[in-house]
Amino acid sequence: MAHAFDLVIVGGGIHGVGIAQRAAAAGYRVLLLEKAAIAAGTSSRSSKLIHGGLRYLETGQLRLVRESLHERTALLRLAPELVRLRRFHIPVYADTRRRPWILATGLALYAGLAGFAGGAGFGLVPSKEWGALDGLTTRGLERVFWYHDGQTDDAALARAVWASALRLGAEAALPATFISAERRDAEVVVRYAADSTLRECRTKVLVNAAGPWAAHVAREITPAIPVPDVELVQGTHLLLQAAPPARGIYYVESPRDGRAIFVMPFHGALMIGTTELRYRAGPDEVTPTAGESHYLLGILRRYFPDVAATGTASPPRAFAGLRVLPGGPGHAFHRSRETHLAVDREQTPRVISIYGGKLTTFRATAAQVLRRIASSLPARHAIADVDTLPLTPA
Ligand SMILES: Cc1cc2nc3c(=O)[nH]c(=O)nc-3n(C[C@H](O)[C@H](O)[C@H](O)COP(=O)(O)OP(=O)(O)OC[C@H]3O[C@@H](n4cnc5c(N)ncnc54)[C@H](O)[C@@H]3O)c2cc1C
Repeated sequence: MAHAFDLVIVGGGIHGVGIAQRAAAAGYRVLLLEKAAIAAGTSSRSSKLIHGGLRYLETGQLRLVRESLHERTALLRLAPELVRLRRFHIPVYADTRRRPWILATGLALYAGLAGFAGGAGFGLVPSKEWGALDGLTTRGLERVFWYHDGQTDDAALARAVWASALRLGAEAALPATFISAERRDAEVVVRYAADSTLRECRTKVLVNAAGPWAAHVAREITPAIPVPDVELVQGTHLLLQAAPPARGIYYVESPRDGRAIFVMPFHGALMIGTTELRYRAGPDEVTPTAGESHYLLGILRRYFPDVAATGTASPPRAFAGLRVLPGGPGHAFHRSRETHLAVDREQTPRVISIYGGKLTTFRATAAQVLRRIASSLPARHAIADVDTLPLTPA
């Protein structure tokens, strides 16, 4: 007879491992299926920020910002070796669209939503210190705001969460590719390929945490389940062999379209990102484009001309990831970053799919997923509390 689990999770990104850890801590039998490696997808290609998302205030996403800031506080406590507060700088020039009063209002609101917890302060960098800001051009500079937010290594964080899940008894088929699933009234039969063999297992709930592949996975489930209207939007970062900023992270505005861009240190390199490019091919083929590189280097030249001159002596490395955003008209920059959970049926769901979301809020999303499927799961005894389990580099 096929093995039986409480949860089978497709996808070893931050959402899959976060749900695996929380479910295993709650005493459930968990199997994770991951076709490549932990964090091989989006969860190693993000901007690596554990943040409330200051710019989401512009689109009124207050609930998301408050929840993210709450999660930032939790991750700083649980994973101090993996998540660190960094000083962010926002320069304002004569031609910057976001004027100082807007930024000051936003930063005050941001601090308030963080509950004035650690790292919630902000202020202005005195003009006599502008010359020490990592080569930031001072021509036309009017103000420089500072505040704090979190930075991590996204893949290392996902591996740490997965290591914790393993310690709590979660099982994995890795690599293993989900092939199809059949929903029955009281269980789901899952087929997957591992070691060139087609395997089968049974589960009370199938969790589709396949990130940009989630719609593909959902379409392989019978009887068919609704697949929401989502759009994939590519985001690219460049890594330059230039001196990484030593004073923190810079939050600059693209002169072309007003988008907010980060310039930051990452593992000894200078990282700049990101872009937003509508994406229509299969998620496996995502790759940075020459146009994105040109766009990002143009912004670096505008704000850090000397750094750009030395940093582009050798071609930059680049990586691209895919956001899963709600479909619809208008620019992706203004679309909701909320996580969307879709179930196959309201009562005792057998399949739950996660569309979109943030690295920062993975713990909250995992908690939401478990609450949503609780009625479909058997009674089990919790063996640990994830709110007190430290996350350490694996
Ligand atoms: C450019 C960019 C920048 C971002 N920056 C930030 C940021 O700074 N801060 C923040 O909080 N969030 C950020 N995000 C959002 C965040 O990165 C994502 O929400 C998060 O990583 C998504 O994780 P996931 O687990 O849903 O998906 P993924 O990490 O993509 O994981 C899905 C996994 O499913 C596996 N899979 C797919 N199909 C199958 C199959 N058939 N069988 C088995 N396995 C399968 C894949 O191999 C993959 O590992 C950013 C996103 C992008 C694109």
